Amino acid sequence: MRIFLRLLILFLAVSTVLSRFRRFFAGAARTRPEPRLRPSGGGRLVKDPVCGMYVPEETAIRAGEQCFCSEACRDKYVS
Ligand SMILES: [Zn+2]
Repeated sequence: MRIFLRLLILFLAVSTVLSRFRRFFAGAARTRPEPRLRPSGGGRLVKDPVCGMYVPEETAIRAGEQCFCSEACRDKYVS
């Protein structure tokens, strides 16, 4: 009977540790930072024809068909 109790306690201890490990790894996977390959908003990148920089379409300065990284580049292109 004593051996049975010991086995029961051992089993409980092992299962507790295992569930803690599982929760730890699940939490680690959840808090992993997202890859930042795409700009926020999922928009596409457009190329500034003046300086050659790629800027997210939604934040680009527009002048007709062209997109620019800044007003300075747009002015340079227009002039
Ligand atoms: Zn530019």
